[in-house]
Amino acid sequence: MSTSDSEPLFRTAGTVAGLESVRSLMNAALDILQDVSAQRTGPVAPGGPEGARAAAREVLTGPLLPEEGSAPETALADLVRPYAQWSADLTHPAALARMQPPPIDAAAVAELVAAVLNQSLHAWESGPFALELDRWVVARLAELAGYDPEEAGGTLTPGGSVSNLMAMTMARDTVLADKTGVYPFLGGMRACAGQPVVLCPVGVHFSIERAVRLLGIGEENIVTVPVDKAGRMIPEEADRILRELPEDKIAVAMVAVAGSTDLGIVDPLPELAAVARRHGVWLHADAAYGAGALFSPRLRGLLDGLAEADSITVDLHKFGWSPASSAVLLVRRSETLLSFGLQPTTCLSADDDTCAGFIGLQGSSLQTTRRSDALKIAITMRTLGARTMAAMVDTCHDLARYAAERIDREARLELFAEPPLTSVLFRYVPPQGGDAEADAFNGRLRRRLMEEGRSLIARTHITGEDGVSRVYLKLMLLNPETTPEQLDHVLDDLLAAAEEQETGAHA
Ligand SMILES: *Cc1c(COP(=O)(O)O)cnc(C)c1O
Repeated sequence: MSTSDSEPLFRTAGTVAGLESVRSLMNAALDILQDVSAQRTGPVAPGGPEGARAAAREVLTGPLLPEEGSAPETALADLVRPYAQWSADLTHPAALARMQPPPIDAAAVAELVAAVLNQSLHAWESGPFALELDRWVVARLAELAGYDPEEAGGTLTPGGSVSNLMAMTMARDTVLADKTGVYPFLGGMRACAGQPVVLCPVGVHFSIERAVRLLGIGEENIVTVPVDKAGRMIPEEADRILRELPEDKIAVAMVAVAGSTDLGIVDPLPELAAVARRHGVWLHADAAYGAGALFSPRLRGLLDGLAEADSITVDLHKFGWSPASSAVLLVRRSETLLSFGLQPTTCLSADDDTCAGFIGLQGSSLQTTRRSDALKIAITMRTLGARTMAAMVDTCHDLARYAAERIDREARLELFAEPPLTSVLFRYVPPQGGDAEADAFNGRLRRRLMEEGRSLIARTHITGEDGVSRVYLKLMLLNPETTPEQLDHVLDDLLAAAEEQETGAHA
């Protein structure tokens, strides 16, 4: 595409000349990121949704695909600067809203490498080493979770929501086939002569409800298992529900949460596994967030019994410092991935390519083209090592306990419960008004802190023992570089903002 006396029209990234170009463009982009980082005053730019929209209006002018392109330096600078300026700064101590940790340096470079080489995992010829690496990472993560890597399997996924959908699919297919002799992926649900149901605790992630809807089971067929005072599913209740299930219903799955999104609650996994086994029900452990506890000798015991689950959702882009997506679905028995068209791996029933070892992974995933997330996962874990990773997890846990203690001491703040992991739920209790007013007050307070660029805090609602649902604020502590003093500062600032709001200066 180039002539000897003119610049090329474009440059692909992976050639020798292209790599030189990537290096210099990357330096330019990093200069912009450093510049923006040095000028930051808070975890997000002030201005709220209006401010972000105005910034976008200013730079997103002209067509997406102009008739004539521009130099890559220009295209990058035009968008990288505002993108960075209006990013939530996950390295800031007041960025406490979401399960997005600041990723480590080596993982960011692994992402660049993955983009330059653009490997995929669906066919052997789309990425021979990427395939080997993917299989190896899945096997090692299965081991980490306590599975026998010889029997276990799994796949990297775009996130916990997809992992949960895949787990519910396998539960439905495997259990219905076990109990009725018919795989629904062949004849559909009508062939199964029974209504599948799924057992869940109240705090289950909404992606499970959506999965049940998508799979044609229907949300009405979710049976909520009662929880104890600590919010954990009661195994005897699960057992009773399964014993009393009407003849025309088939329990296909029980979902245990290993680290609930709001409270970090871990359901009693060994007892639930025993109940599930007794009734021939698939046990899925949603450890999207809680799996981080596996890295800590202090917290690991919370996840005892994890390996008794038939499938496990793990997100290393939450409690694991690898950038999104770094997610895996693990299964105790690899053959259950059949739901996704798992190709035979033995020579008996396979085609000649498979026989010769030219095997891709599209048969064990919802995706066809699939990027290599294993590279950054492996690089993150090898860079950190077990000792540092344990220290990082424990530091975040310590920070959560520190915040909880401080909140508990404040007259105007009400702590919901001691944090088992790293999320802290609390609310500001204004001196006047009832629950509805307090709900509105906390909602407004959070929005104002975000709009003014002071702190990023999440909100949720929790139904108390009295059956009343209330708004709570949530701190998610996943940045081990944050100090207790910085946390104090965030809480001081929140209290100051709340007092201003009370006196009507900011109604
Ligand atoms: C975050 C979360 C999910 C969803 O994971 P994504 O990676 O955001 O799709 C599922 N379950 C639990 C318990 C979670 O905390």
